[in-house]
This record gives sequence, structure tokens and C-alpha cells, in this order.
Amino acid sequence: MMKTPRLEQCAPRVAIGRTIFGETFDWIAGPCAVESAGQLRCCAETVRQCGVSILRGGLFKPRSSPYSFQGLGREGFELVRAIREEFGLAFVTEAVDAESLRLLLPLADAIQIGSRNCLNYALLKEAGRSGKPVILKRGFAVTVEEYLNAAEYLALEGATEIILCERGIRTVTEVTRFTLDLGAVAWLKARFPMPVIADPSHAAGEAALVAPLTLAAAAAGADGAMIECTPEPGNARSDAGQQLTLEQFVRLLEQTENILRGRSAPC
Ligand code: PEP
Ligand code: MN
Repeated sequence: MMKTPRLEQCAPRVAIGRTIFGETFDWIAGPCAVESAGQLRCCAETVRQCGVSILRGGLFKPRSSPYSFQGLGREGFELVRAIREEFGLAFVTEAVDAESLRLLLPLADAIQIGSRNCLNYALLKEAGRSGKPVILKRGFAVTVEEYLNAAEYLALEGATEIILCERGIRTVTEVTRFTLDLGAVAWLKARFPMPVIADPSHAAGEAALVAPLTLAAAAAGADGAMIECTPEPGNARSDAGQQLTLEQFVRLLEQTENILRGRSAPC
């Protein structure tokens, strides 16, 4: 029997910068990986213009192939710090181990634990002690029960501000990169207090599928979405196929409004 007493006491509202998850539908957007000041500045401009206040961008990238771009690491810190301050945005990024977590604390307004580290209990304990809100991605081969146990590790170390993020799991479907488990989103929302968001970008693996999956997540009751976007997706050093252009991201926000209006209508 699953034991998650701490998780059941978690905050239903989680503040990251000015955004409070758990009230309406909130966005986290930006590139897969921080690549250059020019790229991140364009993303920050668009994000702010849209009224979104949280920028994302990987500095330490857990790539499937050791030969792929691993992120700028510490080299990217200064450009992130400058853009975060200039635009007054909150910044969310992934910690891949205890060392990167420690380094990111002054820079990140929330710590992301990625799919590949969802069951890294040592890292979960560190993140739970960090004092920062934690966005825990579901491992792509992790059951809901295992996922909740992972989140309980965070809560047991003192984290109360936890956001769960469904980002797709491995199923028999091969036409999308992963299967966005919206049943799990609805199930979690019905039983646990903390916000649950979706990451349609990593589930889709293809830019054209990001909008329909985002709309479906909004309709299923998600508290928000994390979207990868970048000025020139074709030239991105990671996840080129799934990143939206900045124009596509703006359009996605508009499209989602229709679903959100329907969601708040009385039954
Ligand atoms: C990411 O959000 O940058 C990422 C690597 O996602 P995931 O851990 O879900 O694969
Ligand atoms: Mn990515």
C-alpha cells in the first residue's frame, strides 16, 4: 500500500516568482537548452510580452547520447543571470546531480528534476532540502505509484512546494516520442493537493503535435504547461524537432484561452 502522508500535506498553491500555480493555468516557456545570450533574450522578450513570467532553459542537459550537446553548464550562468534580471522573469532549470543543484540555487527560482532522475533518491533528498519549489517530471517508465513515492521523498525532506509534471511515458505508441498520460493528470488532480502541469513538448517530439496535446492537457484539468520554444528551432542543439517558434508559442497561448474559458464554465 502506498504511503504518502507528507505529500497529502503539500501546498495546493506554489509560487514561482510572480506566478502562483494552482489557481488558473500557468506557463513555463523557453528553449530546451540555453545556447546563447541572443537566443535566450529573444525567448525572454516573447515570454514577457505574452504576460508569462517564467522562463525555462537547460544548463545541464541529461542527454540520451553522451556525444550530444550536454548544455553550457557554468559557462551559461552569467548570461542567464543577466537576462533574468533585465526582464524580471523567474527562471526554471534542471539539476542533474547534487553538485549542479548546489550551483543552481542562486540562479533558479525553482528546481526541475528531469524524467531520467525521477527515481534518483539521493538527488530527490537534496532537492527536497533545497528550500526551492521543485518541479518533478515523471520518469518515462515510472508508474504513478513510483512517481508519488519519488515526490514523497521530496516532501519528507521538507519540500512543501512541489509541482508534478507529466511529460509522457513509454507505451506501444511509436508515432509520438512518448504518450502524454492525461489520465494520470486527472487522477492526480482528483487525489492530491499539489499543482500538476504537463510538458507536451517532450511527449510530442514534434512541434506540430505540441498544440493539440497542450489543449488536451488544459481540458483535462492541468494547472499549466511547460513548453519548449526558441527563435530558430531548426538550428537548436537539442530537441530541434519539438521546439516551437516564438510565433507558434504566442499562437498556442491564444488557442488555449478558448479551452480555459470552457473549463471555468459552470457544469
Ligand atoms: C527538459 O525539460 O529539458 C527535459 C530534459 O525534459 P525530460 O526530463 O522530461 O526529458
Ligand atoms: Mn528538451
